[in-house]
Amino acid sequence: MPTPFDVAIIGAGPAGSSAAYFLARAGFKVLLLDKATFPRDKTCGDGLIPRALPILAEMGILDAVMPRGWKLDKLEVSSPSGRTVQFSIPPLPNAPNYAVVIPPLLHDNKLLQQAIAAGADFRGGVHVRGLLTDANGVSVQVEQGSTTETIRATLAVVATGASTALLSSIGIPAPKPNIVAARAYFEDIQSLPPHFQFRFDGVVLPGYGWVFPTSPTSANIGAGFIRTGKREHHQSTQTAFNNFIQSPTMKTLLSGAEQVGALKSFPIRTDFATARTFAERVLLVGEAAGLVNPLTGDGIDFALESGKIAAQHIGHMLRLGDVSASQMQTYDTMLRQRYQNLFRFSGQVSRFSLNRRALDVLVPLAAVRPRLPEVLVNILLGAQPAPENMSFLRIVKGVAARL
Ligand SMILES: Cc1cc2nc3c(=O)[nH]c(=O)nc-3n(C[C@H](O)[C@H](O)[C@H](O)COP(=O)(O)OP(=O)(O)OC[C@H]3O[C@@H](n4cnc5c(N)ncnc54)[C@H](O)[C@@H]3O)c2cc1C
Repeated sequence: MPTPFDVAIIGAGPAGSSAAYFLARAGFKVLLLDKATFPRDKTCGDGLIPRALPILAEMGILDAVMPRGWKLDKLEVSSPSGRTVQFSIPPLPNAPNYAVVIPPLLHDNKLLQQAIAAGADFRGGVHVRGLLTDANGVSVQVEQGSTTETIRATLAVVATGASTALLSSIGIPAPKPNIVAARAYFEDIQSLPPHFQFRFDGVVLPGYGWVFPTSPTSANIGAGFIRTGKREHHQSTQTAFNNFIQSPTMKTLLSGAEQVGALKSFPIRTDFATARTFAERVLLVGEAAGLVNPLTGDGIDFALESGKIAAQHIGHMLRLGDVSASQMQTYDTMLRQRYQNLFRFSGQVSRFSLNRRALDVLVPLAAVRPRLPEVLVNILLGAQPAPENMSFLRIVKGVAARL
């Protein structure tokens, strides 16, 4: 018996909505499920980096999103001892040389609406408890209030972000999110610099603090740290955040400002380099595949892109009538070809540099040798490929040798 849906997609964040949009647009029968009702808020730094913007244009929502966002083209990094370096987003081959700060509350719902307009069926407030695969398809076990039901589809896409509960039902050991971060919104900030700030003064290392302006006087401000298992990292995100905003520079910046709404924290998975990306009849997209950059924390761009890549590959498999393990493996190969070097390199930079000693050397070095941040930013934003073999330390030594 044919399954009622070609594809069931679990999670309607950017990754799930992108997959749903591209599949529905190609004429497939798509069911998109989310435990949240939309519009839903997602705890985030709200930065849409340049590589996220072309795909929003392709999905037809960039023009609607841009007027509600705040465009910035400069980034400042501060070392633990307060030295700073500032640089501009370079010209990029396939994206504009600016990023946009916009709360997901605004763009995530637009992405979902585009998927629905393209023909996807959406059900919100539906918790998917398990996925069971067999020779003919996937049984999606859903729970809505006190009722449960099973929905059949030929294939499934898991787009559940950092929530890993569903993964064990498809035989993937649930990975522990490796970063935790918290953010709050502030208004009435006097003298807010008009650029992104990554700050390492007053934060738990390895970790970071950020100030992402949402207007000339308001900002999304947050702090996160990498879980290393050491005792000092067992502190709460609340404490890490409070320590960050009490640091001298932040105290001055926020004097007279007002926090609007509660502090919210959320885990982040950045483990794509070693993560599983598929199981029998199931593809993983976005943060469910660990696709958040381990250095910069951006994940919306990868969520959108991987949703599209999965949709295209699923379309190919369904047209061929071949959903074999080797076809599933091909999806993984496509992701690895595109992202593996970038994630390996970003992870290496993060491990090497997110400590006091390294940052206090690297930030002043970057200030006098602009080639260093230029190379790094070009790689992180996709303007040049991540080196396959060259280590970050070699790049730093090369730049330092020319001093
Ligand atoms: C504090 C913080 C700051 C960040 N800052 C940035 C930033 O500035 N820029 C950036 O690009 N990225 C940032 N990120 C990362 C970014 O938010 C995520 O990478 C992105 O949202 C991932 O998209 P996704 O679609 O994969 O998952 P999500 O957006 O997390 O969507 C997953 C969806 O799945 C649903 N779901 C989960 N489990 C189930 C289930 N069992 N049944 C039904 N539905 C389910 C959830 O309700 C949710 O709607 C940040 C993350 C955090 C935590």
